[in-house]
Amino acid sequence: MSRLPLISLLLAGFVAASAGHSRHQQPVFRQIDAIVKSLSEISGLSEKHSVPYGHMSKRQLRQFLTKRIRKTLRPDEIKADEIALKLFGLVPPDFDLKKSTVDLLTEQAAAFYDYDEKKLFLLDESSFSDEVTTLAHELAHALADQHFDLQKFVDESVSDDDENLAHTAVVEGQASWLMIAYDLKQDGQPPVPTPEMLKSVMESSDGSMADYPVLKSSPLYIQRSLLFPYAEGTMFFDAVYKKEGKRAFTAVFREPPHDSAQIIHPERYFDGELDTTPPLPDVGNQKTDVTISEGSVGEFDHTVLIWQYLNEQRARALAPHVRGGRFKVVTTNSGPRPSLVYASEWDSPASAGEFFEAYQRVLRSKWKICDVSVAREGVFAGTGDNGYFAVRLSGILVSSVEGISDLATWERLTAPETEPKVVASSARGARYPSDTLAIWGGKN
Ligand SMILES: [Zn+2]
Repeated sequence: MSRLPLISLLLAGFVAASAGHSRHQQPVFRQIDAIVKSLSEISGLSEKHSVPYGHMSKRQLRQFLTKRIRKTLRPDEIKADEIALKLFGLVPPDFDLKKSTVDLLTEQAAAFYDYDEKKLFLLDESSFSDEVTTLAHELAHALADQHFDLQKFVDESVSDDDENLAHTAVVEGQASWLMIAYDLKQDGQPPVPTPEMLKSVMESSDGSMADYPVLKSSPLYIQRSLLFPYAEGTMFFDAVYKKEGKRAFTAVFREPPHDSAQIIHPERYFDGELDTTPPLPDVGNQKTDVTISEGSVGEFDHTVLIWQYLNEQRARALAPHVRGGRFKVVTTNSGPRPSLVYASEWDSPASAGEFFEAYQRVLRSKWKICDVSVAREGVFAGTGDNGYFAVRLSGILVSSVEGISDLATWERLTAPETEPKVVASSARGARYPSDTLAIWGGKN
């Protein structure tokens, strides 16, 4: 799903803007060369040139982010993503994606590496207790960028949101793993994080959320989108490192994972198991319908959706069974409101059936009104906040159309099944740059 386009753009596009650098010189910068040398020894990636650096205040950052978003994203693109999130019920109806993103990034940013200018920035009012650790994370980006062009790496997956999230997780996971390894090396220990350390990384994000009011009050989906690349990304990198050793530092960029499921289950990455592209229900007139936004709905998205409306345990048990998902938001001739069109494919009829049940709970909870007029095997349909809806289960596919204005379309979508159930699959061929997250500061 296409929640955070801002993230990759920002990751890819920080520019020097208003940063003044010599005025705020701090001793921590004098350690850059030594840190890079150490990171280079751990990773085997050579330092091609020294990393330029600068400083920025939080106020400057806010102005910078606002300007940057205005420059790189059209207002209608932000709106389209916001609408999709609202239709799925992943953010509340009054949610302002642009403002929330700026607020969250301003709160969370402690430092960032600007892939555009290839320059490092630390935030003056960073709440970090240990700036050297922050610096190690950012310099890990700088070092990787000298070898793999990270802007291109993140940009090349922009058209597929779930893949974009996976690429972001590679970037953040690699840098976060390296940051921990650097700390170990400084303490005279082998630079390989232990399972306990990695576990504390996964848990630290939840524990210290209280210190960050903007993040804490953000919708679950926004929180998890922000944290996923760091938490799950670090575990993913560790799995690749365990298998490949130092080659992992190259492999994750040269042969990147394709979807969030490969990040969550590294064995699927090793096996080259790809997500699928299930067919979307046919909603009406292809000529007059206007698609506002469309994209993939991966394991990450399904996890958060089930977590939010059922619980985390169900989410962690069921979401790994999704094999692929898609959505589009369309406006049709027949109605003023946009419709959500969605489909997902599951690894068995049983897990599809389980999600079909779970999705009914989602609809009943996310709407004020959910009048069910058809509830028979494989069909769940009626009227919701946004107009008619129709959810179907067909073999391993679950599909839904929500916000139908035209009764004839609704009747067609709820009619008894005429086509054979899909039992085989159709194999296919997103974060935040608030890098390094302030929330990570707590654990170091
Ligand atoms: Zn980072």
